[in-house]
Amino acid sequence: MQGGFVFYALARFQKYLNSPHSKLMKPEKNILVKKLLVKDVREHRNVIQEQTFHTESESDLNAKEESGLEGLYLFGDLRNGILYTYSMLLLVSLPKLPTGWSIRVLTGWWWMYCILVVTAYRASMTAILANPAPRVTIDTLDQLATNPISCGGWGEQNKDFFLTSLDTAGRKIGEKFEVIHDTNSALDKVSKGTFAFYDNIYFLQYASVKKQLLTEQNKNSEDTVLNTDQSDSVDRNLHIMRDCAINMPISIGLRKNSPLKPQMDKFILRMIEAGLIKKWLNDVMLVTFSAEIPDQGKSTKALMDLRKLYGAFVALGLGIKRYLTSSKMTNELLPDFPPGPLDVYRKQATFDWKKMRIFVETEDILKFKAHIWKTLESDPIFQHQVSTPSLDETRHIAVKRMIQLKKYNFLKIENVMENVRKPLAFLGALFQYDPSAAGKLSLTYGLFESSIQGMGTARHYPFVEASTEGKVTGKCCTHSVLYAKLITPDGTDHGLHSFVVPIRNPTTLLPYPGVTVGDMGEKVGLNGFDNGFVMFDQYRIPRENLLNKNGDVTPEGEYVSPMKDPKKRFGASLGNLSTGRISIIGTCVEYLISAITIATRYAATRKQFGPSEDKELPVIEYQLQQWRLFPYLAAAYALKNFSVYFGEVMVNFHIDSVLGNKKEKLADFGMEVHGLSSAGKPVCSWLSRDAIQECREACGGHGYLKGLGDLRNNNDACCTYEGENSVLIQQTSNWLLQLWSRRDGKSQGPITSPLGSVDFLSNAQDILATRFSASTKEMAVRPETLLAAYEWLICWLLQATNDRIKFNSDSGMDSFTAKNNAQVFYARPLSIAFLEVNRLSALHPVEVLAKSNW
Ligand SMILES: Cc1cc2nc3c(=O)[nH]c(=O)nc-3n(C[C@H](O)[C@H](O)[C@H](O)COP(=O)(O)OP(=O)(O)OC[C@H]3O[C@@H](n4cnc5c(N)ncnc54)[C@H](O)[C@@H]3O)c2cc1C
Repeated sequence: MQGGFVFYALARFQKYLNSPHSKLMKPEKNILVKKLLVKDVREHRNVIQEQTFHTESESDLNAKEESGLEGLYLFGDLRNGILYTYSMLLLVSLPKLPTGWSIRVLTGWWWMYCILVVTAYRASMTAILANPAPRVTIDTLDQLATNPISCGGWGEQNKDFFLTSLDTAGRKIGEKFEVIHDTNSALDKVSKGTFAFYDNIYFLQYASVKKQLLTEQNKNSEDTVLNTDQSDSVDRNLHIMRDCAINMPISIGLRKNSPLKPQMDKFILRMIEAGLIKKWLNDVMLVTFSAEIPDQGKSTKALMDLRKLYGAFVALGLGIKRYLTSSKMTNELLPDFPPGPLDVYRKQATFDWKKMRIFVETEDILKFKAHIWKTLESDPIFQHQVSTPSLDETRHIAVKRMIQLKKYNFLKIENVMENVRKPLAFLGALFQYDPSAAGKLSLTYGLFESSIQGMGTARHYPFVEASTEGKVTGKCCTHSVLYAKLITPDGTDHGLHSFVVPIRNPTTLLPYPGVTVGDMGEKVGLNGFDNGFVMFDQYRIPRENLLNKNGDVTPEGEYVSPMKDPKKRFGASLGNLSTGRISIIGTCVEYLISAITIATRYAATRKQFGPSEDKELPVIEYQLQQWRLFPYLAAAYALKNFSVYFGEVMVNFHIDSVLGNKKEKLADFGMEVHGLSSAGKPVCSWLSRDAIQECREACGGHGYLKGLGDLRNNNDACCTYEGENSVLIQQTSNWLLQLWSRRDGKSQGPITSPLGSVDFLSNAQDILATRFSASTKEMAVRPETLLAAYEWLICWLLQATNDRIKFNSDSGMDSFTAKNNAQVFYARPLSIAFLEVNRLSALHPVEVLAKSNW
């Protein structure tokens, strides 16, 4: 383990030395340093950071990458490092490691087991060779009882003593106890290791020393005279076992029932307590002890036995158990599909779909989702309707389901803390099952409460409590969270702030005077949502209802804020606005996954036309069908990866925002998340819109049945709510344009952001100076080539948008019009390309892993 850590540390250090960030290594003139969005991406891309995009030959490039990936870099991942270290210890050349985690666990334990066995075996062999006659000593009565060696002592009484013992081991000894008449011959047998002799400890000590002296004497005479008696050579000193059968320092024989016994006992006890007995015995034995040759620390136990390999067996057992249980778990979680028409294609698969699923989702998330779906499947409230219910019924069902979901409480706070992917996985699972109930739940409770937690303070927590109890929100809500401009009595506009606004009287549920509420009626989809409108006319709310984490108004009407810079304040509140949009990205991905799964399966089973009268082909065999569907299948993976990453970012932001962590970074973080989500929601919802439409058409007439149509209608709302796509996406280009003005790095230093998504803009001049140099298809589709091309495109579009706005302004347009007239060819594609490069960055680790051996 320690070796693994050391190699890992060395590999990291080596990587650091090779990285252009290292002060120890000066960057070459033409080196492009690419800043990355994702932490994981940073790690993987360190390997390719030194690519000279236009000046190096392909072979140089290959050589550089090869050398970067080989050798010590194999240890760059801690888990691989440990496994490779094991394999080295076993003198196995560096193998290709398996990627399935259960096989890796088994491999790790197997190697560990091998190391333990080999080490134990080698150690024992060495010990046996160094000490040719290892001896096993008997130290306890149990060992003596179970050992096949015979034993005995003088007198029938001793045999009876053992035979009548209450102890099983004692009785066993009694059964094989031989009555000895010749003590010397018995001791000889002991010295040859074939007999155990029972006697008083002092006598045994005396016999032992005597034997020791004799053995020593024989040894000395062997040195000078050739000893022909081989039996002598196996003699050894006597060993006295640790256990004591009877602890009796002295005994004096008396006639049975002798009246002297109590007196004798009393005096003997006194002598023992005074230490006289011990002293006298020691005095008597002194000659023996002084003659004893001290044991020179000779090791007598060197044999390898099974007990010494317990650790190895346990380690192997654990590995096997883990492997078996994980395989069983995988099969329980992802059972094989029942046989059917798709078998033909399933059998042609070049990868294991179960491993792929676990890789994309992780086992923890799959279990979590399976638990949700199983629970809903077995609950009558969640049974799918055979025919379309009326609008009222649809809403009624959605409310009932929402209340039931609240009761199930699938997403507990501890779940979120142990895995920040769970909130998005939870929403994804629900939106795939019933988007209306999912949406109602997340708006009624989730968004209302998280807005207050993120932007409010302790004075607002009663609203959260009331919401949890179901008293505040819903169709007849009494309160609502609204965003509005805050204008203080002195007429200063402090920008967007959020407020908890009372809507209805909690007793009568009638709207307060000045508030008008109404229902929006039936919609294209999501009819379980009872969307309404609310209008205010000269309506006043308490000052304390301002969610005041980032800014407050004193009773005197003065504006106060812990963030002096209004831009930072704005940035912090923007981050909170992104929660909904990031959830929508996740929802679009789940819609897209559902649609592409239906369409691909349908295409693989639906047969139409063929090369001959008697042969029809599944429509998936047609080039045109593949061209229509497969890009969306690929997009589903790319978007899934991006949404999972972005969901994690958002949960972490929310946690920091609630706990008041990283305050100094929160504003920049909020601004960046806003920039990413403002392009992310449009790009993802447009892509899923097009994909679902294509899937619907790809299923022919069957595609016009309700399922895909519902998906399309439900997804359509994603293009509109939480910011109409075409309006929202302008936020991203505006943010990028602001950063573009800082690209020279002189006024405010290099461009950096908490997630690193815009860091490459600091190198804009170098990037724009590069030329596309990939000369083969393989080079052109490398992730690093694509990323570099995207970075170039973004810099170019930024330059072009900036120039266009300047041109418009120079032509006499006001700034509002100048910006609006730069949207179509420049600003809009700029935002889309920016989001795509981030999607690609988030995907890059997947690319790297996909090359490994599944
Ligand atoms: C199902 C559903 C649920 C909703 N739930 C909620 C909710 O819970 N809470 C809530 O507050 N709202 C909700 N909304 C409202 C939603 O947020 C808005 O409809 C959305 O933000 C668009 O605003 P709008 O309807 O005013 O569109 P408009 O702003 O009127 O836009 C109309 C068209 O004009 C275009 N346009 C507008 N300005 C520009 C510009 N500057 N440049 C170019 N084009 C422009 C837009 O792209 C759009 O195509 C919901 C909407 C739907 C469909």
